[in-house]
Order: sequence, then C-alpha cells, then structure tokens
Amino acid sequence: MNEAPTAVKLNLAGNLLSITWADGDASQYGGPYLRHMCPCAECRGHSPGEKEPPSWQAVRDVRVTSVRAVGTYALQFDLTDGHSTGIYSYGWLRAACPSKREDCDATGRPTGHIDIPGPTTPGSATPGSDKPEGTTPV
Ligand SMILES: [Zn+2]
Repeated sequence: MNEAPTAVKLNLAGNLLSITWADGDASQYGGPYLRHMCPCAECRGHSPGEKEPPSWQAVRDVRVTSVRAVGTYALQFDLTDGHSTGIYSYGWLRAACPSKREDCDATGRPTGHIDIPGPTTPGSATPGSDKPEGTTPV
C-alpha cells in the first residue's frame, strides 16, 4: 500500500497541517497536536511507555513554522518551541489522525479536557481548624 500523500499543505496562519492521502482521505493536524504526538526518542523514550508525552497544556501554544519531506516516507517539522527532531512517517501520521481521538477536535486542537491550574499561593490552602479545642482562656 502506498502511504505517501498526494498533497501536504501547511497553513501558517491557521497553524494547521493538511494532508490529502492517495485514497482521497484527508487529515488535519494542529501545531499543538504535532508537538504533543512527537514520535522522537527524546519525547517518547526508546521503548513504549518509557516517557510521557508533553502535556496538552505544555504544547498548546506551539506553532508549526515549516515542514519538509524526509525521503519519501515521512515529514519533519520546525516548531516554535525549538523542537524539530521528530520524524513523522506517513503511516504514523495516518494512524495518528486526530479525528480518531476524543481528547481533541478533528484538527488536533485539544478540547476542554485541559486542566489549567491557577497560580498556587503558598499558605492559601483551606486551613483546618488550628484552634486547639477546649483551651479557651477564662
Ligand atoms: Zn520529540
């Protein structure tokens, strides 16, 4: 099966990579998605499960600035967080099409599942009752 796409387009303004596959299917990948899914050893470790991928929250502002073909089998991207070591094979990209996932929309934009913690203020945790009971001075 020929996995190579018939068209690869990078929409810089939309931060969106569009791929049209040989069988007419099309996939779209947002910049944060590509960063989140980066298949390189630095992000994934050398064996499955060795490393957690960067969180959605950590990558949500990442943009794709350029795309280039690697041989005839893969794409490589320059990302605004300086990361460019991932080699995304066409077979991998096809399997990773974000429309198959539930934690992002069809373009790989994370949906509302990102927990964004507020600033942590030391000492602002709900205090328990610090008063010793039964010691009210008379
Ligand atoms: Zn990586």
